[in-house]
Formats: sequence, C-alpha cells, structure tokens
Amino acid sequence: MSVRTARRIPGDLRGSGWYRLLPAPAPPRILEGRQKADWVIIGAGFAGLSAARRLSQLAPGDRIAVLEAQRIGWGAAGRNSGFMIDLPHELSSETYAGGLEHDLKQIRMNRAGIDFAAGAAEEYGLAAHFVRAGKYHGAATNRGLDALAQFEKHLAHLKEPFEHLDADAMRRLTGTAFYVGGTFTPGTVMIQPAAYIRGVAQGLSSAVDIFEETPALSIETGTEHIVTTAKGEIRTPRLILANNGHVENFGFFRRRLMHIFTFASMTRQLSAVEMRTLGGENAWGLIPADPMGSTIRRIAEGRIVVRNTFTYNPDMQTSEQQIDSIGESHDLSFAARFPTLKNGAQEYRWGGHLCLSLNAVPAFGEIETRVYAACCCNGLGTVKGTLYGKLAADLAAGTREPLVEDVLAEAAPEKLYPEPLMTWGAKAKLWWVQKRAGREL
Ligand SMILES: Cc1cc2nc3c(=O)[nH]c(=O)nc-3n(C[C@H](O)[C@H](O)[C@H](O)COP(=O)(O)OP(=O)(O)OC[C@H]3O[C@@H](n4cnc5c(N)ncnc54)[C@H](O)[C@@H]3O)c2cc1C
Repeated sequence: MSVRTARRIPGDLRGSGWYRLLPAPAPPRILEGRQKADWVIIGAGFAGLSAARRLSQLAPGDRIAVLEAQRIGWGAAGRNSGFMIDLPHELSSETYAGGLEHDLKQIRMNRAGIDFAAGAAEEYGLAAHFVRAGKYHGAATNRGLDALAQFEKHLAHLKEPFEHLDADAMRRLTGTAFYVGGTFTPGTVMIQPAAYIRGVAQGLSSAVDIFEETPALSIETGTEHIVTTAKGEIRTPRLILANNGHVENFGFFRRRLMHIFTFASMTRQLSAVEMRTLGGENAWGLIPADPMGSTIRRIAEGRIVVRNTFTYNPDMQTSEQQIDSIGESHDLSFAARFPTLKNGAQEYRWGGHLCLSLNAVPAFGEIETRVYAACCCNGLGTVKGTLYGKLAADLAAGTREPLVEDVLAEAAPEKLYPEPLMTWGAKAKLWWVQKRAGREL
C-alpha cells in the first residue's frame, strides 16, 4: 500500500476563446462524502472521457466516476487548435514525418482514435463541432516549400492522397498573399475543441458520474485504491490516470515527461466589411510547413485563431505575463498575414500545457496493480488522447484489442537529462528552432 500526494494540481489561466464562445456551464457537480465506484478515472480531457466512454460500452452496469480538477474544457482539451490529424505529426522533426514503418503505424493508430471520436460525435449529436474538413500545410518561404516537397514525397511513399497548392490557390483559400505554396491532406477532422469535449461529457452523463472542480489530492493504492479530494474520497478497485503531464505530480514517470506550453490568440468577430476586404474562404485550418511556425484557423463565425510559440515550463504553469508577451508575437504573425485587418483585433489569448517525452512515446500501461495510465500525447492529444484513453479501458477490462499490444510494444518514456542541463538545453533548443522558423512564425 502506498500513498501518493499530488505535488500540485492544475490551474490553467484564462479560458480559451473556444471556451468563452460557449454559454456558461451549469454549476459543477463536486464529489462529496465517502463514495465507491467500480472504476475511477482522473482527468476529463480526451483521454479521460474516452476511457469513460469505452468502459460504459464494456461494462454498462458498472459505476464509472471521472474526477476533473477544473471545469470540462477549461484545460488543454478545450484550449487546442482543434486539428484531429490522421497523418504523422512529429513536432520535433522538420517536416512532421518519421520513418516509413513508424508512420504507417502512426496513421493506423491516429485513424483508430479519430474513428472512436467520430462514434462519440455521432452518438452525442456533435456533427456541427466535428467536421471532416482536411487540413492545409502552408509555406511562407523557400525553406517552407522545401519542407512541403519532402512531406509530399513522404506522403507518396505512404500512398496517402494530397494536393499541392500554388501561391494563387493559397491566396484564394486564405485571402492573403503571405503563403507561397501549400499542401492539402483530406483526412483531418476539425473540431471546436471546447464544444466537442463538453458535448462528449454531456453525452456520457447518463452513464458516467463526472465530478468537476474535484482535483484528486492523493491516491492510496492497494487492494482497493482510495482517491482523496477536498470534500470527500472515492474507493475503487481500478483506477485510470488520464491527467496528461500531471500524472508526474503523483510520482509516476518522474523526470520522464517534458512540460511544454503553447499559446493562441483569437480575434473578435470580424465585421462583414473586414471579411469582404480579406477575401478567402470562410473556414479552413492551416498548419505551418515548419512545425515551429504558426498554426492559423479561420472559423465560420468570422474569427481567426493564431497559435505559435512553444516554451519549456517544468513547473507546469504559465503566467499572465508570459501569455501577454507571447500575444505580441501573435500580433506580429497576424499582421504579416492579414495586413488589411487592423491591429487590436484579438479578443482572447491563452496558453496550454502539452506533455511530450524525449522519444515521443506515451506514458501508457498498467503502472501499478490495477492502476493504468493514458498520458503524454506528444502534441497530438485530440487523437492520441482519445485512442490511449480507449485502449487503457480495454487493457483494464481485459479485452483483446490488438492496438493495446501495439502501444504496449512502444518503449517507455526516456529519462530526461539531469538539471540544469535539461532546462537549459530545452530552452536553448526551442529558442533556436523557433528562430530558424523565421517568417514561417
Ligand atoms: C494552444 C494549443 C493548441 C493545440 N493544438 C492541438 C491540435 O490542434 N491538435 C491536437 O491533437 N492537439 C493539440 N494540442 C494538444 C492537446 O490539447 C493535448 O494534447 C490534449 O488536450 C491532451 O489530452 P489529454 O486528455 O491527454 O489531457 P488534457 O486535455 O490535458 O486533460 C487532462 C485533464 O486532467 C485534469 N487533471 C490533471 N490533474 C488532475 C488531478 N489531480 N485531479 C483531477 N483532474 C486532474 C486536467 O485539469 C485536465 O483537464 C494543443 C494544445 C494547446 C495548448
């Protein structure tokens, strides 16, 4: 028997624009008193809700409880850019691509994640927030064009469809002459992340007890695990940790996870005149040819979202000051792309937590007797979180899902370098690769 007390609990600053666009949620249901459940899941992001949904399919009569420290969608699950990408998306590479075998496996896994999410979207009536739109890669420089050419060559090897776009086609799409070329791939689903994740939680609420504003403060593992919260405790024989990088706060995967933040700004609703002057299509999502560049999304509501900049925050938190100062970099990226739109167009700014490992593998599996982890999505958590959550439920319930074996066959997350080398090295590397991104940022 061992007791693990959380070293810190999540406290994401500001709500994302996605969250702010939704109506205020009903008051939270908070766990109180002494309770029992057949299954307890910590974290209600993609991984946690996916695990809950899978368990509700596998063990429909069981009591399944989910504990979420914040409101649903307040954390990274409602802060992301909403690209559910089916193709390889290796952020630490120069073109997103990896080795051929590795990427074929990634595609299989990513599509399994998207399929499971599509099932939830259909079951819970979320079609408006889950659109099979595909994604664009945009190049702003010759170096970006080279990266696109390499990526397209890789797609051809993988036998994946794509379409190359010249500068004119990119201008017709985006309304800006900023991009000199692009690549379209059709398999990406675009979600309104906060609406999707809230919709999944609402859809599950008749089968699963979801407690919000209920951080797990300590975990006592044993024949029966006991999770303690501020106002109560819950006992369970089986526990799934789906709390992303925060799993390390309980002492699991210590010094094996990298806590990276990335940041976004969303404009106010642009006026009809501004939209007409801008031109381009109403809704599209574009990731940069250089993974360190800016992701841009235009949404049908007449807003544009810019995401860029990665920072290394081993204390798992950002600050108001960091969000504001990176917001200035968003303004520069925005002005370079959309000079016809006035400065001061940004209404919301936020940052959010990504969990990466040095060798780009998840923190997954049975980590103590009947304690399972579905964490660390290496920057593609909408898809991988969905998959790992589902597979953790399969593993815990003992189904013979072959993809479980595929994930278990991955190496464990590698140990980080000793401090202060790790922090200096990570910060220096991020500084360099983002400087090298140049105009792609
Ligand atoms: C600006 C931005 C853009 C991004 N863009 C994309 C994108 O386009 N596509 C993509 O795939 N990914 C993107 N990501 C990454 C993606 O958001 C994450 O990978 C994903 O949310 C991870 O899902 P998850 O369920 O594993 O973890 P999370 O979504 O982080 O959910 C974990 C939950 O656990 C809760 N928790 C933690 N500790 C406790 C505790 N002690 N007790 C109770 N609850 C706890 C947290 O509050 C959190 O809600 C982006 C991220 C950011 C910040």
